[in-house]
Formats: sequence, structure tokens, C-alpha cells
Amino acid sequence: MQEIILIKYGEMALKGMNKRSFEDVLVKNIRRRIKSLGKTEITRAQSTIYLKPADECFDVNEAMDRLKKVFGIAALCRAAVCEKDFEDISKVACEYIDETLTYAKTFKVNAKRSDKAFPMKSPEICRELGGVLLGKFNHLNVDVNNPEITVTVEIRDTNAYVHAENVRGAGGLPVGTSGHAMLLLSGGIDSPVAGYMMAKRGVHISAIHYISPPYTSDRARLKVEQLCEKITPYCGSIAFFCVPFTKIQEEIKNNCPEEFFTIIMRRLMMKIAQKICEREKCLALITGESVGQVASQTMNALMCTDAVCEIPVFRPLIGMDKTEIIEISRKIDTYETSIQPYEDCCTVFTPKHPKVRPLVADVEAAEANFDFEPLLNEAVEKTEIKIFNPDF
Ligand code: ATP
Ligand code: MG
Repeated sequence: MQEIILIKYGEMALKGMNKRSFEDVLVKNIRRRIKSLGKTEITRAQSTIYLKPADECFDVNEAMDRLKKVFGIAALCRAAVCEKDFEDISKVACEYIDETLTYAKTFKVNAKRSDKAFPMKSPEICRELGGVLLGKFNHLNVDVNNPEITVTVEIRDTNAYVHAENVRGAGGLPVGTSGHAMLLLSGGIDSPVAGYMMAKRGVHISAIHYISPPYTSDRARLKVEQLCEKITPYCGSIAFFCVPFTKIQEEIKNNCPEEFFTIIMRRLMMKIAQKICEREKCLALITGESVGQVASQTMNALMCTDAVCEIPVFRPLIGMDKTEIIEISRKIDTYETSIQPYEDCCTVFTPKHPKVRPLVADVEAAEANFDFEPLLNEAVEKTEIKIFNPDF
């Protein structure tokens, strides 16, 4: 019996988009994600991608786990391939769903007949196959409203398929269909979630992280690299830029009023990120900020940060509560890493009384004593780059 994976993308997502290029990107992302599992044949028809293992040892369970994290997929299921012939469909269904049906109490059959040339209509397929299954598994009862198991038969153009599970996909748009943006990635809970959320909208992500040795340790940097790697099953390959930020922070401390330290630091982070964005052709910045979470995230503070930004800043968590953010970070498995207690450069030289409602003009005046530009360029020059790929 041949088993395949059927991958379905939401037709809604295709509205107003170029369907062909959407599919091309999705197939490319799928191929990348399962390449290490062995050879496969991938074809597509009727808003479905057919993934047929061509290697004996291909691990279908592992493939399903990986594909559940690929954006652009609405639903997926493993299915058995049958001839377009009712007898073969019955035989395959009895064999393929044997174990599931043995342990179930109720079931129903659901038929989808996209090939209208098939001689039986959907209700007839349901009725007949239901009868066959009841005959073999006589402990079963039919429950059309709330069945434990739904056996689905799909009659498509070249074959029929039988399956008993439909797994929800990650949804969203395929990564790479919405352009390239730079995520400001700290070691905290929020920014990895922000990256995940923008990747869900099809954005290809690079990440930038600022370090301040010796105030921040190697362990802190490693933690962020780990977070970066942890979001790659969703985001795909990520270029990680690590920027030395110590000198800049020290000059802020030496030359600017303390109450503006954090906000100036954030503005300079944005400036450096934009220099790298220009080189890497990123169209936007992404942060994990959320209104009111800390002093540097009041509306006034965000306005001061944005005043130095010439490209859009996406803040997908802007209206979310911490508990909602934590829920997502648990789901994407970044939470446990994020809460490891290592210092971030943001916590170095934190002012005792930060200005909660800074005005742009005041911040500009506070920065005016020192020319940061040469230091920003130097930091860009000394930036280290690493590429992270999913760990398989
Ligand atoms: P997070 O949980 O993401 O660390 P936070 O609530 O701790 O966020 P801040 O420390 O004020 O908030 O940082 C706000 C945003 O600034 C972060 O979400 C992140 O996008 C960015 N950021 C903070 N520190 C760094 C850093 N060292 N390197 C890169 N980006 C940073
Ligand atoms: Mg932080």
C-alpha cells in the first residue's frame, strides 16, 4: 500500500495573490524542510500538494511534524492511495484504517468526489463504504453528528485517497511571499514571538542582536542564538547579525542625561539595524514591543524610537498582554529558553528614573552632545554574521 501526504492550502489565502508563485514558494519551503528525510515526489493539483515518499525509510511521522510548522499550509493528512475503483477503495480502507477503527466506537464516512466521472455519487460512496466497514468492524456504530473517527474518501483526477485524520496546518502565508524584514531579537520572551508572527504572514526574517561584552556574557549571546535556531522550523533559514554595542552604550552613559539612556539606546539600535537593512535589502524592522509594557514602550517612547526610522517598524505584539505572548512562546517552544536568566544589553546602564513620556525634541537635544555616527558605522563593520537552519 502506498502512503502519501496530502497538503492543502487555504483557497482564501490566494485571493488577490499570484497563485502560481505562492505555490512555487510553498513547494520550495516544503522540499527544504523534508529534504533530509529522503527522496520524495511532489506534485500538485486542485489546491492540493501531493507528497509521495520515494524512499523505503522515509519517516512519514517526522515529515508530518515538520510540515505542521510550515506556513501556508491550512491542513494536511497522511492518506493511502487507491485505484479509482470502489472495490479497491474498500479493501484499502479496511486495511489502512484497521487499527484506528479497531479502537474506536463510532465513525462516519465522508466522501469528496472532485472527479465527477466516477460512477458513484458521494452519498452512495458513504453509504456503501459505511456498510463495508460495519461488516468488518462489527463493534462500530455510525454517528454522523459526532463521530470519533471520520473516514474520508477523496476521488481525485488520477487516484482515490483514503484517510482518517485531518491535521490543522500552521496557516498563514509561505515564508518568502511577503518580502524580507529584520527582527530585533533579544533574549526575552517577546521578540522570538514577534518573529514567528511576521513569518506567519509570509515575511522572510533576518535577525539582529546587540551585545555589550563584558557587561553581557557569552552565555547570553548563546541563548539568543538558541532562540534564533528554535524559530527556524517556522521561519526557515535565518541570517543572524550580532552587533558589538559596548562602546556605544558607554558613550551614551558618558555624554547623555541618564533619564534618556534607554530611549537613546533604542534609537541607536534602530539606526544600526537600518544600515544593515539597506545592505541586506530588508524592507522593514520587527520588534517585540507592546504598548505600556515598560517605560521604553509607552506611546511617547515609541514615537521617539520611530522618529529615527525611515522604514516601517512592525510590532505584531503591540496590543497583546504578556499572558497571550507567553502562550504563543510556549507553543513555539521558545519560552523555556527565553526565561533563562541572562542579562541583556538593555539592562546595562538602566536609568533609575527613565523618562516615561519623552518628547522627540528633548531626546534629540539629549543626544546632541556626541556624534554617534562614526561609532554606528564601526559597529556595523564589526558585526558578525551566522546562518541558522532548522536543526535537522
Ligand atoms: P523581549 O522579551 O523581546 O526581550 P522586552 O519586553 O524585554 O522584550 P525591551 O527589552 O524593552 O522589551 O525590548 C524591546 C524590543 O527591543 C525587543 O522585543 C526586541 O525587539 C528589541 N531588543 C531589545 N534588546 C535587544 C537586543 N539586545 N538585541 C536586539 N534587539 C533587542
Ligand atoms: Mg528584552
